[in-house]
Amino acid sequence: MKVLTELNLLQAAADSSQAVRRVSRRLSPFRLCLLKSCSSSAILNKSSSTSDKEQGLRAKATTTIRQVLNHQPSHGAWFAATQALFNQVAAFYFEVALANLPILALSTQEALTALERLTHATKKNPHPVMPLSAIAEHIPALFRRAAIHAALGSARSFHTHLSKWRKRKEQALTRGKTFTERPPVPPRSWNKSATLYAGMWKERTASSIVLKVWTGSCWSWLKVRITGRDLPTDGTELGSPQLVRHGEHWWVHTPVEKQFSRPANIEQQVTTHGETNICAVDLNLGEHLAVCTIQTVEGSILATRFIDGGNAIAGFRKQLLGRIARNRARTGIIAAGEQDNAALWRKIRARDEQVAHLVSRRVVQFAQEHGATILVFEHLGTLKPTKGKYSRRGNRKRAFWMKGRIFQYAKYKAWNERIITTRVNPRNTSRVCARCGAQVMRYAQGEVAEGYTPGAPLVLCPACGMRGHADRNASLRIGQRLIARYPSQEKPHAPLPPRETERELKDSGVVGSQDAKSFEQPSIAPASRHGNSNGHGTGAPHRR
Ligand SMILES: [Zn+2]
Repeated sequence: MKVLTELNLLQAAADSSQAVRRVSRRLSPFRLCLLKSCSSSAILNKSSSTSDKEQGLRAKATTTIRQVLNHQPSHGAWFAATQALFNQVAAFYFEVALANLPILALSTQEALTALERLTHATKKNPHPVMPLSAIAEHIPALFRRAAIHAALGSARSFHTHLSKWRKRKEQALTRGKTFTERPPVPPRSWNKSATLYAGMWKERTASSIVLKVWTGSCWSWLKVRITGRDLPTDGTELGSPQLVRHGEHWWVHTPVEKQFSRPANIEQQVTTHGETNICAVDLNLGEHLAVCTIQTVEGSILATRFIDGGNAIAGFRKQLLGRIARNRARTGIIAAGEQDNAALWRKIRARDEQVAHLVSRRVVQFAQEHGATILVFEHLGTLKPTKGKYSRRGNRKRAFWMKGRIFQYAKYKAWNERIITTRVNPRNTSRVCARCGAQVMRYAQGEVAEGYTPGAPLVLCPACGMRGHADRNASLRIGQRLIARYPSQEKPHAPLPPRETERELKDSGVVGSQDAKSFEQPSIAPASRHGNSNGHGTGAPHRR
C-alpha cells in the first residue's frame, strides 16, 4: 500500500475521531437505503467476479432463497447480539475507511488488506494505528471480513455522493448561484444483516444449519432447524448466507447463483430462428395491468393473456390515499413521513409491491408456457400531470410507478428463465392496426365506432375491418415493432384477415387473468399453441 505512508496514517487517526462525530449525526432514511443497496451489490459483484472470465458463453442469474430459523425464543437474543456486533464492527470500519480515503480507490481485496493492517494486530504488525480491539475483542477473522465488506460498500457509496454534492456546489458557486442543497451525511445508525462467510456456519442440511453466534459474552456454535424453500441442488452455487431479522423471527437468506449457457441475442433470435416466439406486453393504468401476446417472428399470433387487477389496486389505494388526505386536512401536516400516516403509506407500498411481483410473475409464466424467448415492453415515457383530487393524482402516479416496477421485476424473473427482455418506442402503438397498419378508431362498447377516444377499450380498423380489444392491439404492435427492427431477407406476405373468434376467460382473484385465443392466421404455422386448458367463456372486453 504505497499510498499509506506513515504520515497519512497519523493524519488518518486524527481524522477518524471527526468521522466518529459525523457518523453520530442524522441521516435521512432515503440516504441510508441508498447506502444499504449499494453495499449489497458490491458484495454480490465480488462473489461473481470469477465467472466473468467465461462471460462470452455462460450467463448467470442470482436469486435469494429465504428460510425461517426455528429457534428457541432465548436464542433470538443471541442472533440480535450477533447482528449488533456485526454493525458495530461495520460502523468502525466505515469510519476507518473514510478517514483513509485513498483506500476507497483500491480494489476490494487491496482495501481489505489495507484496512486489516490499520486495525488488526499480528506478529508482524503488533501496534496497528486504529486497533479494532479498542471496540471489540475476539472477533473471528471471517466475521471481521464480512463486516469490512459491508462497511466498504457503504463508505464508497457515501464518498461518491459527497463528491458529487461538492461538484454541484462548486458549479453553482462558479455560476454565482446560491446553493442550498444539504450535504449527504453518513449513516446515523447501522442496521445491516450479518453476512456469514464460510467458517461462521457449518453442517448445513436441508433441515438444519450450525451457526457461530455471539451470545453477548462469547462465541458459540448453535444448531438451528430450518424451514422454508429448499435450496436448489442442480448446477447452482450457494453464496454466503445472511442472518436476517423479520420482526420477532430470524431467517437465513442465501443467494443462489444459477449458471446457464447465454441465450442468443435478440438480433440472432429474430433473424436466424424462424421459430422464435416473442411475448409482447402492453402495461396499462386501467383494469388490465398487462396484456400479453405471443407471436412468432413471421407474425403468427399464438396466444393472448389479460392480466387484471387494476381496479382492485386502484380502489385500495384510493381509499387509503383519501384517509391520508383527511388526516392531513385535520392536522395540517403535509409531510409524507408524518407518523399518523406512516402505517397507511406502508400498506400502500406493500400492496403495490405485491401486485407488481404477481403481475410480473404471471407475465413470465405466460411467456414460458408458450416457449417465448424474448419479452418486449414499450419504453414508459413520462407521467403526464393529471387534474383532480389528491387521491386521484396520487393513485395515478403510483399506478405509473408500478408499471416501471412490473417491467423491472419481469426483466429479472425472465432472465432467470433465460428469456431476454427489451423495450421498443411507444409511439403510436395504440393508434395503428396490428393487422394492416392503418389508423384505427377507438371507442367504448355501446358507442358508435368513430374517431379516436384515448383510453377507450375497443378498436375497429376501417381499412381491414379488424375489430378487437385496444390493449391487445397495442400489445401486438409492440411485438411487431421489435420484429421490424431487424428487417430480414424474406418478409412474410401481409397477414391474412383474422377470424372473429376472440374468446376470453376470466378467473377471480386479486389479479385475475384471461386467456384469449384469436386472430389465428391460417396462412402460417399451426396457430393454436396456447396451453390453457381451462374452460373458455365468451366474454365481452372490459371497460376501463
Ligand atoms: Zn387494419
